[in-house]
Amino acid sequence: GGHLLDVRDLHVEFRTGEGVARVINGVSYHLDPGETLAVLGESGSGKSVTAQAIMGILDTPPAVIRSGEILYQGRDLLKLPEEQRRQVRGKEIAMIFQDALSALNPVFGVGWQIGETLRQREGMSKADARARVVELMDLVRIPGAASRLGDYPHQFSGGMRQRVMIAMALAMNPKVLIADEPTTALDVTVQAQIMDLLADLRRGLDMAMILITHDLGVVADVADRIAVMYAGRIVEHADVRSLYRAPAHPYTKGLLESIPRMDVRGQELSTIRGLPPNLMRIPSGCPFHPRCPYVQQVCVDVVPHDLVLGDGRTSACHFAQEVRDDSAR
Ligand code: SF4
Ligand code: MG
Repeated sequence: GGHLLDVRDLHVEFRTGEGVARVINGVSYHLDPGETLAVLGESGSGKSVTAQAIMGILDTPPAVIRSGEILYQGRDLLKLPEEQRRQVRGKEIAMIFQDALSALNPVFGVGWQIGETLRQREGMSKADARARVVELMDLVRIPGAASRLGDYPHQFSGGMRQRVMIAMALAMNPKVLIADEPTTALDVTVQAQIMDLLADLRRGLDMAMILITHDLGVVADVADRIAVMYAGRIVEHADVRSLYRAPAHPYTKGLLESIPRMDVRGQELSTIRGLPPNLMRIPSGCPFHPRCPYVQQVCVDVVPHDLVLGDGRTSACHFAQEVRDDSAR
C-alpha cells in the first residue's frame, strides 16, 4: 500500500578533502498519516541527514545523494523540479531544529517571523496573518500571545523560543512535522513540556511526526514505532512496546541498558563500549562488530541484512532472534 512518506534505500555520502564519508547506507523507513516514528541514534548515525534529504535541504555539495527514493504521497521528491519541491517544503512537510535561537532572526519580532510564510506564500493580508499568528501562538501555549507579537527572540526563554519555532512550522498546516532533537538544548522539566506539547499537537492536528533523538528515554510515551540508526543504517525497526520489551539488536539492547530506571534502586548502568565508527572507514561485515558483546567471526565477514522477526519487526543482526530471546528473559 502507499504510505504518506516512504524513504527507500537511500544512500548519501559527503565528499570532503580527506575522502568520502558514507553517511547514509541504504536507509528505508515509512510514515503513515497521523503516526509518530522516532528515529534514534548517536550523533553521526545519519538520522539528521536523512531528514535533511527529505526536506530537500541537502542538495548542495559536498553532500551527494547516491541513490534511493523519497516518495511523498507517491511522488519521488528527489525527482521533483525545485519549484515543486519548494511547494512541499513547509506546506506539506515542515521541520523544527534543536537550536531555536539560531533558527530565528534576532532583529524581527516573533509575530512577524511566524507570519512571514502566511503573508508571502499564502498571500494573506497583514491583519489576517496577525490573527492567525495569535491563534498559532495560543496553540503552542505561549501565554499572552497577543501582547508578545512584537517581542524579539532573545526576550523569550529557551522553551518559549522552541514553541515559537513550532508555531512557525505549523503555520501552513503541514501533514508531516520533522522534529530534530527538539528538546536537547533544554532542561529536563522544559523537555517534558515540549514533548507533551508535540504529542498533543500531533493528535489534535492529525499530523504525522518524525521525532529524531539520541535519547531513548524521551520517545516511549510519544512514538508509535522506532527506527534505530547506526553508521548510516537502520539496525532495528519495531513498534515501541516490542522494542522496549525485548530489543532484538545488541546496539538497541545496549542503549536501553544505559537508561536509568526509576524502579531499580542502586542499579549499575552499563554503557556501550567503544565509539561510533569513522564513516570514511566503516568496519567490514556488521558495522557494530567492534563494539558488540555478541560478536562472532561471521559478523566480521558478512554484512547482516534485515532479519524479519515474527511480529513485523526487523533487526539487522545475524543473531537477532537469540538477542531478542536473551533480552526477554
Ligand atoms: Fe553484533 Fe554480530 Fe549482530 Fe552485528 S551481526 S550486532 S556484531 S551479533
Ligand atoms: Mg543531528
